[in-house]
Amino acid sequence: MTFEELKLAPPILQAVAALGYTQPTPIQQKAIPHALAGRDVLGCAQTGTGKTAAFALPILHSLLAKPASKKIRVLVLSPTRELAAQIFESFRDYGKHTEIRSAVIFGGVNQNPQTDALRKGVDILVATPGRLLDLMEQGHVRLENVEYLVLDEADRMLDMGFILDIRRIVAKVPKARQTLFFSATMPGEIRRLADTILTNPVTVEATPPATTVDAIKQQVYQIATHQKPVLLAHLLSTLPVSRALIFVKTKHGADRVVKQLRRWGIAAEAIHGDKTQGARTRVLENFKSSRTRFLVATDIAARGLDIDDVSHVFNYDIPHEPDTYVHRIGRTGRAGATGEAISFCGAEEFGSLADIERLVKKKLIQLRADSPEFRERLNNPAAGRAALPDDDAHDHVEAHRSRGARGQRARRPHENRHSHGNRSHGPRDHGPRDHGPRDRAPQHAQGSGEGGADRDSAYEQASAEYFKPVRKEKKREHMPPITHAHALNPKAPGHPRRSQG
Ligand code: AMP
Repeated sequence: MTFEELKLAPPILQAVAALGYTQPTPIQQKAIPHALAGRDVLGCAQTGTGKTAAFALPILHSLLAKPASKKIRVLVLSPTRELAAQIFESFRDYGKHTEIRSAVIFGGVNQNPQTDALRKGVDILVATPGRLLDLMEQGHVRLENVEYLVLDEADRMLDMGFILDIRRIVAKVPKARQTLFFSATMPGEIRRLADTILTNPVTVEATPPATTVDAIKQQVYQIATHQKPVLLAHLLSTLPVSRALIFVKTKHGADRVVKQLRRWGIAAEAIHGDKTQGARTRVLENFKSSRTRFLVATDIAARGLDIDDVSHVFNYDIPHEPDTYVHRIGRTGRAGATGEAISFCGAEEFGSLADIERLVKKKLIQLRADSPEFRERLNNPAAGRAALPDDDAHDHVEAHRSRGARGQRARRPHENRHSHGNRSHGPRDHGPRDHGPRDRAPQHAQGSGEGGADRDSAYEQASAEYFKPVRKEKKREHMPPITHAHALNPKAPGHPRRSQG
């Protein structure tokens, strides 16, 4: 199928051709005809599948057929600022031979340029929910003329605690509208949300995530948590890594990994939700332009980022959600390129690894870290470390920036939830000084290959030997309920809790 066959308007075809798109991606082939026919669309697709054009192109086409109004006719909701900015740029690129005007609004930056843009009149508004609600409350945004509503990365909106905000926003959009709803995963809550927002939608799916990652070499190191920083430094300096995304589970963990790498003279930068918008933009630009080749990211900050040519994805921490693993590693091996995903699995993370292997329907290739260079680094951590006198200064500047940003305004309730949500719910994030099975390092060499029962049992055996079993949480003792009488008078004899001592 070609874009011409989709019967898109000539200015759009011209823009798409100029971008070098030769044919629509599968999600575009599936979604665009329905969207052009005016149907609501429920799209299951992740970043990298071309989903932005899947909703942007038919919307631009439909707007062209209607008289200009300078009123917001399209509202696109995005969970993160970075994704919002990318969607805005895509609308601008695809609509560059049209008069259609777009604007993007998101929090963390001065609102004045955004309200100025809105005052001039826009057809398409791309927004994150928090800033949109702020500007709606201040009277800068009116949604009564919206004809097209897009929700992008709906599952991430849920993760970030935006669902109530979304409902509040959708309640202000006319019911007579066309809605395009995209989500990488479709858990029950997302389906329920979609049911209330969409009318008789067609469901379209990009290739299911578990098969889109087939081109990626997926590997795992069993590694004691305290050895992870050394292994990462070792791999980044010995593998042919052109650009790497390194995923960690906490914001604090991201900063710590960057600091550890810098001590080995490896320049890396972190992107996470505690950075100011300015810092995030700068870090991202550095990475995109390859000024920084290693980006340490939390899932939420990295979600939706369109970064090509990532040769390696490192899962420094194994994600608890197997879907998250698929999203992470999908950042490499894009557009037909091959990519490598390397996961570091600590003792506490075997359960999560098993869930991942079930989802991707394969055992990851197991690697063992015992090359002489790695051992040397491990045994002599000071060797090769760069003295970086600016470490503290750098941290101080970043901390100051973050504090400054936080100090500018009160946090919205969901933002507080978000920062909690981003914290680890799982096993403790051990620091490098935390004790681990130091003296029981992995034994054999790299690349034991894929598949095979022998390999599986060896893996399990090695895992069992290598790591101590995770300590089970002590069961809470049953507390008898406090009776009504004791609630009124806690000193009354026979209080169930006090009687337990
Ligand atoms: P998305 O999934 O929307 O983030 O798109 C991922 C990347 O694919 C972006 O860099 C787009 O510019 C690119 N892209 C989207 N559609 C096509 C297409 N039909 N052909 C080639 N590249 C595309």
